[in-house]
Amino acid sequence: MTKFSDLGLAEILLRALSHEGYETPTSIQSQAIPFLMQGRDLLGIAQTGTGKTAAFALPILERLLQDRRRPVPFTARALVLAPTRELAAQIADSFRAYGQFMRPSVGVIVGGVSHRPQIDMLSRGLDVLVATPGRLLDHMTTGRFKPATTEVLVLDEADHMLDLGFIVPIRQIVAKLAKNRQTLLFSATMPKEIAGLAADMLRDPAHVSVTPVATTAERVAQQVFLVDGGAKREMLLELMQDSEISRAIVFTRTKRGADRVAQHLDVAGVGAEAIHGNKSQSQRQRALEGFRKGRTRVLVATDIAARGIDVDGVTHVVNYELPDTPEAYVHRIGRTARAGASGQAISLCDNGERPLLRAIEKVTRQTLPVTDRRLQDSRANERSEEAPRGAKKQALRSRNASPRSRRDGARPEPKSPAPAGRNMKRAPKSRGTDRARG
Ligand code: AMP
Repeated sequence: MTKFSDLGLAEILLRALSHEGYETPTSIQSQAIPFLMQGRDLLGIAQTGTGKTAAFALPILERLLQDRRRPVPFTARALVLAPTRELAAQIADSFRAYGQFMRPSVGVIVGGVSHRPQIDMLSRGLDVLVATPGRLLDHMTTGRFKPATTEVLVLDEADHMLDLGFIVPIRQIVAKLAKNRQTLLFSATMPKEIAGLAADMLRDPAHVSVTPVATTAERVAQQVFLVDGGAKREMLLELMQDSEISRAIVFTRTKRGADRVAQHLDVAGVGAEAIHGNKSQSQRQRALEGFRKGRTRVLVATDIAARGIDVDGVTHVVNYELPDTPEAYVHRIGRTARAGASGQAISLCDNGERPLLRAIEKVTRQTLPVTDRRLQDSRANERSEEAPRGAKKQALRSRNASPRSRRDGARPEPKSPAPAGRNMKRAPKSRGTDRARG
């Protein structure tokens, strides 16, 4: 698995990422960053929620670091075009967060506000300018923004720009930019106008694409049980008493773990089989066949072994251990929401896995319903150990756009343990979709 430190980013950026609580790159980040660091153009098929902002912001900041100089008045070294004011502000915030220890000059130009402060800002020159196309074009027409020296152009949410009628202004802006710039285009979908724009704007682009993380996650009812590590086995058996769980995939991180969990379930009378890379092809096929036909109620699998599994009617996915990346979580829970069906996902999370849970919530932009089933003393220990650190993180995170209500050690605690597998709520969508035209 890729780590941020494998991507060749400067220490000053790695430090900011760890301050932001990012532990591992998302799929779009590990795919796109290496190409962008080589200066390649890029066509990215990715939606919001996949981590695409960091995928383009980090290589831009890295470029600024490697060639530090004062921006020339009325220019910007990197230009990001976004469809809405709201998104433009969020992108600028992300640049500031990832660049918090290098302090690049980052500005936002959007419509609907007065020109004067924007002209003052442009007159100082910027490292990074995030803009909506209409107002930027106004400033170009009056000579307040000179695009000829811009080194990197990013078009974000290109399909939204198309919906909002921005294609013509974009083409007008692009026509004035230097030909030897680096160009990145991100879009969730690829209508033919966008494909045409990409073909005209990009030179030999690298192509990357990711599954829309948030959409899959929204269809699945999800629940998390906070448990002590040693209590997971019992918890799993308790879950399996629910007869609604008729066909479940239980995920473990390791092959040995898969074997142990399957054996434990089998001994307790819950029909289970493990599949993983150490099993022969015929063993895997037999296990899958039994699961498909309903002879085996539970399939215990590792992420890699589960990749090829195509079984409909999986009622539940249980994360016996949380995966290392948010994308793997989304792929796992997607097993129960095949062909548009909805399903349920239950995760057992011990104290050591809490950072993984936070990363999942962040990337999917959901706050998952949590039931605390830990013993009293392990909760108390956590509170006394984590309180000061939690407070510091809270302060840092309050700069981030995604609103979060509860923090380490502040989960609501039920008076008596809640029954397992019940009261599953559909996790709320937390980012509004209404857009203001900039
Ligand atoms: P984006 O798709 O860029 O809007 O990002 C979606 C959310 O994921 C934002 O709240 C980011 O702060 C967060 N995020 C991006 N990359 C990571 C990562 N590698 N680890 C954890 N959170 C991330």
